[in-house]
Amino acid sequence: MATPRAEAASYKIRKNDMVMVVKGKERGKTGKVMRVLPDHGRVVIERLNLVKRHSKPRGAASPGGIMEKEAPLQIANVMFFCERCNAPVRLGIKIAAAGERSRVCRRCGEAVGND
Ligand SMILES: [Zn+2]
Repeated sequence: MATPRAEAASYKIRKNDMVMVVKGKERGKTGKVMRVLPDHGRVVIERLNLVKRHSKPRGAASPGGIMEKEAPLQIANVMFFCERCNAPVRLGIKIAAAGERSRVCRRCGEAVGND
């Protein structure tokens, strides 16, 4: 089993989490995590931080034009959004007697992101 690098292991945000952006031009917006890029310390959030890509026509299948695509955001600039608290929160890790680690909201204490 590979040992994860300390910095990569510290990210508590995962795919399909609801997060809120707390810094930058998208501050205050929430969205679902589509991808986590631990090596870059970034996350891609559905419909947030859109950038326009101009593409050239390449035959009938791709007519070209302007496409919007999500650009990755710094993980440090997003926080887990707890639906119970209706607020961006910090997460803690709870280790059960069986050794299973689960993520908990530090504000309401509830387990989040069933896994
Ligand atoms: Zn909570």
